[in-house]
Amino acid sequence: MCELCNGEKKIIEQLSFGVRFIPCPNCSTETDLQPIIDQLKAKIDEIESARKESA
Ligand SMILES: [Zn+2]
Repeated sequence: MCELCNGEKKIIEQLSFGVRFIPCPNCSTETDLQPIIDQLKAKIDEIESARKESA
């Protein structure tokens, strides 16, 4: 088992205003990142179409 994330494949990063989850650098693969990339692309598309509508 990965000692960095205990098999969770994500790490809790302590921030001054809370916590956030980051993918474990030991365990994360491109496959694990793909959903995040897809989410970002969908978000960009959303912003792009919103901008077109307001223009
Ligand atoms: Zn790990």
